[in-house]
Amino acid sequence: MDFTLTEEQELLVGTAKEFAQKELRPWVRFIDEKGDQQEGHDKAREIYSKASDLGFTRMGYPEEYGGVKVDPLTMGLIAETLGRYGGVPKVESGASLFGASGSGLIVARAGTKEQKDAWLPGIISGKKILAIGSTEPHCGSDVSQIKTTARREGDEYVIDGEKQMVSGVRWADAHLVYARTSEDKGSRGISAIIVEGDRPGLDKYQFKTFGGNIWELGGIVYKDVRVPVSNRLGDEGKGFSLLMGMFDWMRAIAGAQCVGIAQGALDESIDYVKQRFAFGRPIGKWEGVQFRISEAATILEAARWLTYHGLWLAGQGRSHAKEASMVKWWVPTVTFNIVNDCLQNRGAMGYTTEVLDELRLRYIRALWIADGTIDIQRIIVGREILGKEFVPYR
Ligand SMILES: Cc1cc2nc3c(=O)[nH]c(=O)nc-3n(C[C@H](O)[C@H](O)[C@H](O)COP(=O)(O)OP(=O)(O)OC[C@H]3O[C@@H](n4cnc5c(N)ncnc54)[C@H](O)[C@@H]3O)c2cc1C
Repeated sequence: MDFTLTEEQELLVGTAKEFAQKELRPWVRFIDEKGDQQEGHDKAREIYSKASDLGFTRMGYPEEYGGVKVDPLTMGLIAETLGRYGGVPKVESGASLFGASGSGLIVARAGTKEQKDAWLPGIISGKKILAIGSTEPHCGSDVSQIKTTARREGDEYVIDGEKQMVSGVRWADAHLVYARTSEDKGSRGISAIIVEGDRPGLDKYQFKTFGGNIWELGGIVYKDVRVPVSNRLGDEGKGFSLLMGMFDWMRAIAGAQCVGIAQGALDESIDYVKQRFAFGRPIGKWEGVQFRISEAATILEAARWLTYHGLWLAGQGRSHAKEASMVKWWVPTVTFNIVNDCLQNRGAMGYTTEVLDELRLRYIRALWIADGTIDIQRIIVGREILGKEFVPYR
């Protein structure tokens, strides 16, 4: 295992750093505050467009649709760099600045030519958002219990039910809705269907979240919403495995985002403790402060290598479920503490919106829950170590 960056990776990381410093960081606070308004959304779209021109949003997608082939580790390096120098690596929760986002990947993997033609160019260029609707008011971790139905009538599905905690619900052009297309129970009989956001019978609502506008969440109520059967992705009844397949190594990418964000906080904290004086000395000379820096740097290094290892295994085509879930539960938790310590080093100013640490904390906190909670990840790690018969809910 050798993690010395290749020439190509060096180049990409350098470009990502410059982009993050110039185009992302100056606008992060603005979008956090105004992301629920047209001007905030327009700015976010503009940033996506620039990220697309540089190839970042194209990573992981098929080349025939304008995608760029990169290995998971390289994608992680870009997510990390955007987080480190841009403050946070995403400015709208339904879309990803650093390449393949969940729903886009499913279209690329399971879509027909018509579906790919209709969706991929827009998603890749940051112009279209296809949000994911799997969670419902009564179930999130246990997706197999969803109640939303898609009843077949001729060449249409009629959708009834409710989705909740949909990232990017406000601005999404469509939602990839997981719905029951048969009487089968559990994970069987669930299909993935694209439902455009302007279909009659659909009602959206919005939550205010701890994450502000960068992690916006909302719900959608479907009442007799009709979509053509051709909107279904993949085979009927196979939606659950499409959804689970989406997470795969993307869980380790969550770690790369957190490592980058925490490194950005630590970089700034190191500068700060050298020049802020208390009791006649720079505060970095006081052991309490210095040890916070030392411990943060140590834990961050461990988090980084765990993340790189998970991504590297995936790139080698080797088994990585255990490592990706190790990353997804551990890295968000330890990096949250690191950013919290950085905020502490700033004293009261760290608690204000003049410093980015509070926003960094809010971003990382979401990753304890989104895309599989830290508890579910520990169950996966346990399953991989002890065997399937030890899965507690089986
Ligand atoms: C920022 C953010 C973005 C999101 N984006 C989307 C999206 O785009 N689309 C979408 O469909 N959903 C989205 N979600 C929802 C997310 O997928 C769910 O919140 C998540 O799967 C957990 O489901 P839940 O909230 O219903 O919690 P529950 O499943 O009800 O769990 C509640 C608590 O119990 C714990 N728990 C549950 N089962 C077990 C168990 N067997 N063992 C131990 N602990 C357990 C959980 O870890 C959690 O702490 C998002 C959530 C967040 C926070």
